[in-house]
Amino acid sequence: MSEKVWRNEDDGKNSQVRENSWEQRVESKRKKQKQERQIRAAVYAGILLVVFLFGFVTGKGCQGGAAEVQAAGGKIPDVEKSTVAVKMGEVRKLPEYVDEQYLTVNPHSRPGKATGDIHAVVIHYVGNPGTTAQQNRDYFEDLASGEEDVYMSSNFVIGLNGEVIACVPLGEVAYASNNRNSDTISIENCHPDETGKFNDATYQSLVKLTGWLCRQYQLDPQNGGVIRHHEVTGKCCPKYFVEHEEAWKQFLQDVDAWLKK
Ligand SMILES: [Zn+2]
Repeated sequence: MSEKVWRNEDDGKNSQVRENSWEQRVESKRKKQKQERQIRAAVYAGILLVVFLFGFVTGKGCQGGAAEVQAAGGKIPDVEKSTVAVKMGEVRKLPEYVDEQYLTVNPHSRPGKATGDIHAVVIHYVGNPGTTAQQNRDYFEDLASGEEDVYMSSNFVIGLNGEVIACVPLGEVAYASNNRNSDTISIENCHPDETGKFNDATYQSLVKLTGWLCRQYQLDPQNGGVIRHHEVTGKCCPKYFVEHEEAWKQFLQDVDAWLKK
């Protein structure tokens, strides 16, 4: 009897031990699973953070090189609205400092389509430091071959010595400003380095040409009549004016001052 009791007690203890160790195993498994969940959560959070930071950096910062080519993206820009057009190749005598070197009419850089009414001048930077106005103009002309399958151009390009080349006549659509190609005039600007800042010669010509265009088309530079490519697509173009809001405001004031001279 006593033996039995002892055995029973013993059995009880043993089963208690077994039960404890089973519970411990379950508990430790639970802990392990919890740890794994925490690790997975931390990894996901890390990945999300990296993606977020990457988007933040690329969204805010400017990408160097071939900026305008990336903007074109090989897609045919929207020119549907231009069918409501003003007269094609409207005759406007350009200022004497403008060098008219119009592109050959071609699907990639001079589609030969008339614009609608003009509502703004769009300012750009070429995104290719140290290149000249002539090189950029000739690049647009080379696109006519279709080899690169890029659609890009500009009504004007201003160079590092302040020279101004007209590539697409006023009244015709140029491929520079995405969905605003049909109601805007585009000016691409050369720049010496990666900052995208225009040198003084380029800047002075840009103020003069933008002012002249504002006068021709009755645009108010400080009231939406002069915009950055950035306002159209959110693109970091022209880089320096996007990264330095105060310089952009100053530029608009300088155009305004030119108009009031
Ligand atoms: Zn641009």
